[in-house]
Amino acid sequence: MKERSSDNDSRFSVVADNIKRINENIAAAMQRAGRTDTVRLMGVTKTVDPEIVSFSVSKGVKLLGENRVQEFLDKRDRYEGNPEVHFIGGLQTNKVKYIIDKVSMIHSANSEHLIEEINKRAGNAGLTMDILIEVNIGGEESKGGIAPEALGELAYKTAELGNVRLRGLMAIPPVDVDGSSDRYFAQMQKLFSDLKDKTKSDGRFLIDTLSMGMSGDYESAIMHGSTIVRIGSVLYGYRNYT
Ligand SMILES: *Cc1c(COP(=O)(O)O)cnc(C)c1O
Repeated sequence: MKERSSDNDSRFSVVADNIKRINENIAAAMQRAGRTDTVRLMGVTKTVDPEIVSFSVSKGVKLLGENRVQEFLDKRDRYEGNPEVHFIGGLQTNKVKYIIDKVSMIHSANSEHLIEEINKRAGNAGLTMDILIEVNIGGEESKGGIAPEALGELAYKTAELGNVRLRGLMAIPPVDVDGSSDRYFAQMQKLFSDLKDKTKSDGRFLIDTLSMGMSGDYESAIMHGSTIVRIGSVLYGYRNYT
């Protein structure tokens, strides 16, 4: 019993140290980028024990990212500290109804069909869902997300819908070889600022969120204007997939 609790203690203190280091790195990257706005640290919780997730919330990680519907539904009752939760993973249309009233933003809106379903379910639930359009910035066949060329059209279609509100863009660039994510982040920054400019006098839009950067590349994402960095492994430890 004793051994077990000291085991737990060290898991907690590692997470506390990680959060401190990540916050310092975020602040330093913002300073290098000359930024005085806000970058939010999101804790990506997949495979992480809800006790550890709750501990991270108590240490200031007030925003969580979920990518698996069932795992989220199984764990959410054990989250303490009233975190804000966003859905960030691949989302099948038939699962939207399970999460619609349990998250405050969906980062992975990656097709017109999915956005229409989110709109419909949000309407049924009497709410407006904030969404980000996921862009397949590396043009990878294996990944979700729309092509950069299709972004404008989808953004304007979204604006026609009464129960979703487009807040910005999300991307998962290809695995970094020789600093390649830097180039993709720069492209995302350009798409984001173009979208913001184009829609700024249109009240149907509130474009303020650029979700990019993970454990291996969040500092570079911050240099390119990211407003939410989604961090899993360097925060909670490396995942054990089963
Ligand atoms: C797992 C995941 C992350 C976090 O990845 P790490 O490299 O562990 O930080 C971020 N975004 C999405 C969509 C993920 O699935």
